[in-house]
Amino acid sequence: MNMTSPDAKGTLYVVATPIGNLRDITLRALDILKSVDVVAAEDTRTTSGLLKHYGISVRLVSLHQHNEREKSEAVLAYLGDGKQVALVSDAGTPAISDPGSHLVASARNAGFDVLPIPGPSAAITALSASGMSENGFLFCGFLPAKSAARKKALESLKILPQALVFFEAPHRIMDLAGDLSDILGAERTVVFARELTKLYETIHACRLGEAGQWLSSQQRGEFVVIVEGAHSVKQEGISEEAKRVLEILLPDLPLAQAVKLAARISGENRNSLYELALEWRGPP
Ligand code: SAM
Repeated sequence: MNMTSPDAKGTLYVVATPIGNLRDITLRALDILKSVDVVAAEDTRTTSGLLKHYGISVRLVSLHQHNEREKSEAVLAYLGDGKQVALVSDAGTPAISDPGSHLVASARNAGFDVLPIPGPSAAITALSASGMSENGFLFCGFLPAKSAARKKALESLKILPQALVFFEAPHRIMDLAGDLSDILGAERTVVFARELTKLYETIHACRLGEAGQWLSSQQRGEFVVIVEGAHSVKQEGISEEAKRVLEILLPDLPLAQAVKLAARISGENRNSLYELALEWRGPP
C-alpha cells in the first residue's frame, strides 16, 4: 500500500490491459498496478486473473456498466483520502466502448488528476493492420442491436470518406455484415479483424458482398470490422488502372503532365483525371 501524507491528492490512472495476449501489457501499466491502493475493475474475476499472472496483490473494487454512477462516488472518496486508484476494464483501454467515462469525468470535475496509461485497444490494433487508415477513420463502436436502428445509423455514415471502425458482439456479426452491405454497398472493401493477439487471430479482407459467405466459414470470436470510406463522386467511373497510373506519376511530375500521361497510358478521359488529381492534391 502507498504511504500518503494526509493532504496528498489521489490520482486516477486509466490503465490499458491486454486484449488477448497477456504479454501485451506495458511495463508502466504493471508499475502502476503494483503501486496503487485500489484497482477499480469492470469484472474483478477477470482482473484477478491478470494480476495473479503478474504476481500483483492489490485491493479490487468492481465498477461496471450497471453500477458505475454509484461506484464512482466510492472511488472519488478514495481519491479524496489521497489514495491512488487504477481503473481497468476486462480488456483493452477503459472508457472506449467500456465503462469508465463517467468516473473519469467526475474525477476530473472534482479536481483530481486523471492520467492515462496507454496500451492495447482493439480498434487501433485492428486499424494498424487493415491498410485502410490513410484517409483517417471514424470510430463508431457498437451500432444499435436492432436492425432498423442500425440501418438508420449506417445511412448517416454512408457518404463519409473515412474508414469506419465498428465493434460487434460475436452473435451479431453476421447481421451487421448484412446491413453494412445493404446500406454501404456490396462493392466496398471490409476488413474483419478476429481474435486479435489470440491463438486464432485472423485478419481477412473482402468485398462487403462476400462477407456473409466468409463469415459463415468462420468460428465465432471477437471481431473489429473496418469498412473503407465512401469513394468520392469524382472517382466513380474512372478505371482502377487509370487511378493507379495517376497515383504513380503524380508525386514525380507536375500535375498537368501526370494527368496527360495517365490519360494517354490508360485511355481514360483527361478531364476526369484532371479533376481527380486536383482532389487528391487537395487545397494549395
Ligand atoms: N475497451 C476495449 C478496447 O479498447 O479494446 C473494447 C471493449 S468492447 C466492450 C469489446 C469489443 O472490442 C468486442 O466486442 C470486439 O468488437 C472488440 N475486441 C476486443 N478484443 C478483441 C480482440 N482480441 N479481437 C478482436 N476484437 C476485439
